[in-house]
Amino acid sequence: MCIFCQIAEKKSPADIVFEDDKIIAFKDINPSANIHILIIPKKHISSLNDIKREETELLGELLFRAKEIAKEKDIASQGYKVVINTGEDGGQIIDHLHVHLLGGERITKLV
Ligand code: 5GP
Ligand code: ZN
Repeated sequence: MCIFCQIAEKKSPADIVFEDDKIIAFKDINPSANIHILIIPKKHISSLNDIKREETELLGELLFRAKEIAKEKDIASQGYKVVINTGEDGGQIIDHLHVHLLGGERITKLV
């Protein structure tokens, strides 16, 4: 089981900021910004490459949740960056689809 599946199933600890039946969001263990949250589907999907047509609603939910968390953290009006690293050249290290939410300061680099 991958590390993010373990977090989703509470078999590995994480600082969880949101959870529902399909999605879980938690703080990045090695933050690249003042606010750095990872938003993932609970279901194991390896990367954006593996998203099926019928999973586009789930993809929308991940982005919607990024916005909601940004509002909750009071960074929405100031702005933030949302990143999905995909594959080797995209810099994806964890093979479980995740959306990075970065903010709380001017974001000058991608993760
Ligand atoms: P990627 O490079 O795959 O897009 O990003 C993976 C992110 O997951 C990195 O920012 C890394 O710091 C974070 N990460 C890796 N392992 C763990 C973990 O066990 N717990 C948490 N909270 N974050 C992790
Ligand atoms: Zn997984």
